[in-house]
Amino acid sequence: MTSDPGRSCALLLFREDLRLADNPALTAAARSGRPVTALYVFDPDLRGARGLGAASCWWLAQSLRALADDCAAIGLPFAVRVGPTEETVRKAVAEAGAGLVGWNRRYVAAERDTDADIKSGLRDEGVDVESFNARLLYEPWEIEARSGGPLKVYSPFWRACRAKGEPPEPLPKPAKAKIAAGPKLEGIAIDELGLEPTKPDWAGGLREAWPVGEAGARRTLSAFLKRGLKGYATDRDRPDRPATSRMSPYLRFGEVGPRQLWHAAKQAADGGEASAKDVEKFHAELGWREFSYHLLHNNPDLASRNFNARFDDFPWRKPDSAHLRAWRKGRTGYPIVDAGMRQLWTTGWMHNRVRMICASFLIKDLLVDWRVGEDWFWDTLVDADPANNAASWQWVAGSGADAAPYFRVFNPTLQGEKFDPEGAYVKTFVPELKDVPLKWLHKPWEAPEDALRAAGVTLGQDYPKPIVDHRAARDQALAAFDRIKA
Ligand code: FAD
Repeated sequence: MTSDPGRSCALLLFREDLRLADNPALTAAARSGRPVTALYVFDPDLRGARGLGAASCWWLAQSLRALADDCAAIGLPFAVRVGPTEETVRKAVAEAGAGLVGWNRRYVAAERDTDADIKSGLRDEGVDVESFNARLLYEPWEIEARSGGPLKVYSPFWRACRAKGEPPEPLPKPAKAKIAAGPKLEGIAIDELGLEPTKPDWAGGLREAWPVGEAGARRTLSAFLKRGLKGYATDRDRPDRPATSRMSPYLRFGEVGPRQLWHAAKQAADGGEASAKDVEKFHAELGWREFSYHLLHNNPDLASRNFNARFDDFPWRKPDSAHLRAWRKGRTGYPIVDAGMRQLWTTGWMHNRVRMICASFLIKDLLVDWRVGEDWFWDTLVDADPANNAASWQWVAGSGADAAPYFRVFNPTLQGEKFDPEGAYVKTFVPELKDVPLKWLHKPWEAPEDALRAAGVTLGQDYPKPIVDHRAARDQALAAFDRIKA
């Protein structure tokens, strides 16, 4: 931010960067020497962009409350307003008498276009505007194939990212003494946004599972650095272990940024608390997130259109409502699928390995269009992300960039036995099976009657029989795929 300091204030727009540390727009506003005031605009209808799902709305409300407290602690005036972004920002600029406006960039097409219009409109009126990167390690347009243009395969994409060198060190949180408070804009109470469920209040499991806000992100990260990072490369596929960071919702809403995660993991390796292999794997997973954003940037309709147009002719079945309900509620009769779908419903999150198994089951065992599943995840995940969710569903479907081949069909029984070998994950989320002997836990329909009786389970009563036969379903999926191959 370069304008003449002292004449007017700086308006900082918070977006998907609900944090004070490593927030380049905030740092620049503080350094401008102008008094700073901050605003969050909730725009429920941003140029027809997809609205947040219910679990994300819940998260956003908690996160905004935490941010309001954090801003107060450093003396930064903060207001929340609701309305069309462009109009609301322009009004706030006029009210605050802002000579500069700053924000961190967003990547969904409607957001990008809106921000470009705000930028040019304000500049025309003589207001300085600057935007920054807080959300990604590398801007999606900075990474190109050698021959130019976007990359469609992860490995060369990640090599190209790595060739750019280490991501910059994260910025510190500005100290209270470094911020001159600007005028406080009038705003509305966060409750008035109506983001949280009331009747019924289904968010109890979410509240229990997540400490929301920047401080919650820090706590969750430090637990991971202490317990999960060591062994991450091998254990990250185990849903029964606390082996992954659970950083995804914090990344989604920006309570933490990827540069912070990158360097925190690197320091852990430097301090001998994790191996270089663990850290490299963790960095590579952040790389998958970067890849998703690269895909979204170059394919704005990633959530609605097959990346691979061949899938436009795929003979999806019209979803059988009983099957769809069983999948959503975790009552398919396949314990690992049901555990995952119930973990999602109660906590708003699901382990990555299990996301793949549950998505494969919907797409390939039930032959339901991946967009139906993507939509359910969008509504129920606290980390529902416009890039990661769409790219991952397309990856499982086989219709995406660098996707799993369609003929790779996850066998839910073998996956359960391999990645939940002691059954601890299934027993946590499908407690009615907790006394079923391990030998049958991932395939209770094969258990002898007396073993089930001793475990207090009658199939079809206490726990469902499988809604489809996996082997037959797999054959049908492959036959359907043959049709588009031809
Ligand atoms: P960690 O293993 O600790 O990884 C650290 C970070 O790396 C994650 O927080 C995430 O930002 C990134 N990451 C890890 N794995 C992947 C991956 N496969 N693809 C992209 N980024 C990754 N992730 C979302 O953030 N939002 C979504 O809406 C989402 N939907 C998904 C839907 C399906 C069908 C599948 C198969 C995966 C989806 N993922 C999504 C990716 C992945 O499952 C989650 O990012 C991960 O489970 C988050 O847990 P974590 O933070 O403990 O991950």
